[in-house]
Amino acid sequence: MTQPKFSIVAPAYNEEETLPEFYRHVREVMDGLGEPWELVLVNDGSTDHTLEVMRRLHEQDHRVRIVDFARNFGHQIAITAGMDHARGEAVVTIDCDLQDPPEVIPDLIARWREGYHVVYGVRSEREGETWFKLFTARLFYRLISALTDVEIPMEAGDFRLLDRQVVEDLRRMRERRRFIRAMTSWVGYRQIGVPYARHPRFAGETKYPFRKMFRLALDAITGFSDLPLRLSWICGIILLGLGVLLGLVLLALRLAGSAPLAGQGLMLTAALILSGTQLVFLGIIGEYLARIYDEARDRPLYTVREHIGFDDET
Ligand code: UDP
Ligand code: MG
Repeated sequence: MTQPKFSIVAPAYNEEETLPEFYRHVREVMDGLGEPWELVLVNDGSTDHTLEVMRRLHEQDHRVRIVDFARNFGHQIAITAGMDHARGEAVVTIDCDLQDPPEVIPDLIARWREGYHVVYGVRSEREGETWFKLFTARLFYRLISALTDVEIPMEAGDFRLLDRQVVEDLRRMRERRRFIRAMTSWVGYRQIGVPYARHPRFAGETKYPFRKMFRLALDAITGFSDLPLRLSWICGIILLGLGVLLGLVLLALRLAGSAPLAGQGLMLTAALILSGTQLVFLGIIGEYLARIYDEARDRPLYTVREHIGFDDET
C-alpha cells in the first residue's frame, strides 16, 4: 500500500445513514486532488449498523480503514484514535454527518501548502441548528476564552487540517480529558482559519446533547485553567481582609469610648478571620494540586517548529 499523502479522520457514532454519502463526497473531492489519500473511520461504539456500513466501504475501497472501538469513548477520544492511526503528511479531522463539507478540504490543503501547520475551519454560518445550541455554543466560547490562557478561535470546531509535525506533538499529549481544540492551539506553530458555511446534518440527529456539551466545557476549563483551584485564595483573602478591617474599626471605636455590637462584633471578626484563614489554606492546597495536576498531565515541556544548524557534523 502506498503511503498516503493525506489522511481524512472521521469519528462516527450511530451514523449508518450518513456514512455512505459522506464517503462519496470525500472520494470525489480527494480523487480530484490526484494524490494518495486514506480515510480513517473510527466507530465509536455505535449501536446501529455503522460498523457493517464501514466494512462495506472498506471492501469497496481499501483506502478506507476502520478503527472499531469496543465501546463508546466519545468524540474527542475517537478523533485521537483516528490521528494515532493516520499515516498522511497532513491529517484532516472532520465529522461524518456532512455538517463540515468535504468540499472545503482542498481549501485547507491549499493553506497547508502555503506553509501553515494548522488550518482550522471557522463556521461563518450555521444552518439548521437550534437557537439553544447556538446560544450555549457562544456562551461556551466566551467562558473558555475568559477562563483559560490558550487562545481558542471563536466558531472553530473540530474540522481542521494538521501537519504531521503537529499530529506527532498532539500524540505526545496523552491527557484523558481531552479538549482537542485547545490542545491544538496550545502546541503553537503557524495557524490560520478558513471560513466555511456549516450545513445542517445530512441525516439522523445530533449525538452531542447538552449533557455532553456541558462535560466538554468542564473538560475544557479544568484542562486549561487553574482558576477554579485558585478561587479559594481569592475568597479567603477577601474574608480575611474584611475580618481584619472590622476588627480594627471596632478597636478604634472602643478606644474612642463607644462600643457598638460589643460581643457580637468580636464574634463576627473572629468568624471572618477564621473562615478567611481556612480558605487561604485551601487555596494553598489548590496551588499544590494545580502543580500535581500539571505534572500528571505530562504534557511535553515545549514544542519545536524547526531545529536549525544541528545537522552539520563539524
Ligand atoms: N460522535 C462520536 N462519538 C460520540 C458523539 C459523536 O464519534 O459520542 C461523532 C458523530 O458521529 C459525528 C461527530 O462526532 O461525526 C460530531 O457529532 P454530532 O454531529 O452529533 O455533533 P454536533 O455537530 O451536533 O455538535
Ligand atoms: Mg454534527
